[in-house]
Amino acid sequence: MKNCDRCFLAAPILYRVRYDESGLWFFVCLKCWESLSKNNPLYAYGGTWKARKKK
Ligand SMILES: [Zn+2]
Repeated sequence: MKNCDRCFLAAPILYRVRYDESGLWFFVCLKCWESLSKNNPLYAYGGTWKARKKK
């Protein structure tokens, strides 16, 4: 599990996004991703991160 960079809740899937002028990548949960991607010209999607079980 990884924590969302916005709400700090742990989630099994996080979305890698850029959403501000810093140009930094953040990992956010689905809920935060939805709100960040709406009406945001700075938003960029960089893939997803998924928790994987150890072999
Ligand atoms: Zn979140």
